[in-house]
Amino acid sequence: MAATEDNLLKNIISHAKEYGFIFPSSEIYDGLSAVYDYGQNGAELKNNIKEYWWKFMTMLNDNIVGIDSAIFMHPTIWKASGHVDAFNDPMVDNKDSKKRYRADVLVEDAIAKLQDKIDKEVEKAAKRFENFDKAMFVSTNARVLEYQKKIDEANARLKDAMNSSNMEAMKQLIIDLEVTDPISGTKNWTDVRQFNLMFSTEMGSVAEDANKIYLRPETAQGIFVNFLNVQKTGRMKIPFGIAQIGKAFRNEIVARQFIFRMREFEQMEMQFFVKPGKEMKWYEFWKEKRLKWHQALGLGNNNYRYHDHLNLAHYANAACDIQFNFPMGFKELEGIHSRTDFDLKSHEKYSGKKLQYFDSEDNQNYIPYVVETSVGLDRMFLSILSAAYQEEKLEDGSDRVVLRLPAALAPNKVAILPLMKKDGLPEKAMEILNHLKFDFRCFYEEKDAIGKRYRRQDAIGTPYCVTVDHQTLEDNTVTLRHRDTMKQDRVEIEQLKNIIQDSVSLASLLKKI
Ligand code: ATP
Repeated sequence: MAATEDNLLKNIISHAKEYGFIFPSSEIYDGLSAVYDYGQNGAELKNNIKEYWWKFMTMLNDNIVGIDSAIFMHPTIWKASGHVDAFNDPMVDNKDSKKRYRADVLVEDAIAKLQDKIDKEVEKAAKRFENFDKAMFVSTNARVLEYQKKIDEANARLKDAMNSSNMEAMKQLIIDLEVTDPISGTKNWTDVRQFNLMFSTEMGSVAEDANKIYLRPETAQGIFVNFLNVQKTGRMKIPFGIAQIGKAFRNEIVARQFIFRMREFEQMEMQFFVKPGKEMKWYEFWKEKRLKWHQALGLGNNNYRYHDHLNLAHYANAACDIQFNFPMGFKELEGIHSRTDFDLKSHEKYSGKKLQYFDSEDNQNYIPYVVETSVGLDRMFLSILSAAYQEEKLEDGSDRVVLRLPAALAPNKVAILPLMKKDGLPEKAMEILNHLKFDFRCFYEEKDAIGKRYRRQDAIGTPYCVTVDHQTLEDNTVTLRHRDTMKQDRVEIEQLKNIIQDSVSLASLLKKI
């Protein structure tokens, strides 16, 4: 049963479906591409992730407040934000396989392959020479220098082509890098075309007065246009932040890798408004804070790394990703961007309304600069699910699949299981359930052998099982089984709440940050 890297994602996808975490959308109609539904366990896990983020932002920071803005917004907002003109991805088709790709991703993959070649040269040399000096080798080895030159050139050309929307240059780059289609193996590419990722619809009851509006491609703009509302009504002083969780929609060219890239997804974004000139300090601050927030989950610090952006978006003066080691490799989980005053300034221009802050300490008005943290809720979900999913061979030779979810995020905190369906055990178990259910999400089950029931709870990540047996009726003690170690303790019913509370509370997680 042990999963190779290749089929790990497949196993996770089928586990997520089998145990009520994630279903393909509209499944009885054969699904809808890159859209997914969260099932009974998925919805709980997702809500817990949201709570972890929301509480961190709005409770642990006294200068951050949360809002919930509408998905539909005035269409001019998307003109001002640059999305109407520039929220494009370049797409290209392979004429033989008829498959469509993002041209910039093909180029980035080709660059990554060159980097792999350098890494291999370094690895080989490191094995060959004692006292190997990597820096010296990289700066003098002819083959490495040639690869590096190609990488630098390709990066510069990619940046130019993207910034100037020069799709011919992009096609030429694909040709020069000798990119082949992984499916057909040919280099038979169409021209590269720009494709706008926003979904549009019409608002209004009759065709003549209907207005074209967009489904928001990011939640951030709902924060920008409410910046003064929140600042004034909340008497907020700079620096301060506004947080929001909500749906976003992107008509992705290639949507794949399960919930990693969806067409309807959720974002958790925070815009932090600062005095101009102070943005780099806050950018560094949030970079570090956000990484700590991820690491506090205990999924392995090595699974996270920073990736600084070389090609900056039109609105940014610094940007990086926090990448996670997904089953398909290290990929973006969260973006941290220093967005300058681009958005507020542009909304001032398009709306004709002043969006300035009066700084009473300096006695001056200014448009604040913004540092943004933006994490996809669904990508968070996938990162947690994939790190938690483990296939184990036990000492007795049997297999178990366990989700080692951070206890505070698990859909159910405790399962209450009467050993048998008779002798008053279910009644006693219900009594315990009624005692615990106000504090924890509990699960009750009396069908099947206890071992089977334990495995089902392991598979959905329940940190504790409480088993009620005949001894319980005599001395009010139960068996408490721990998911990760499978260890069993005999404890008094009275103690249960305290024992469980300590390890499953969000507070325990938040205190680690
Ligand atoms: P990518 O480069 O992967 O397309 P992006 O840089 O366009 O992502 P941002 O615009 O910075 O992404 O969005 C912030 C976060 O929203 C991302 O870090 C990611 O977690 C999430 N996100 C973006 N697009 C999607 C999507 N199509 N499906 C799921 N999550 C997404």
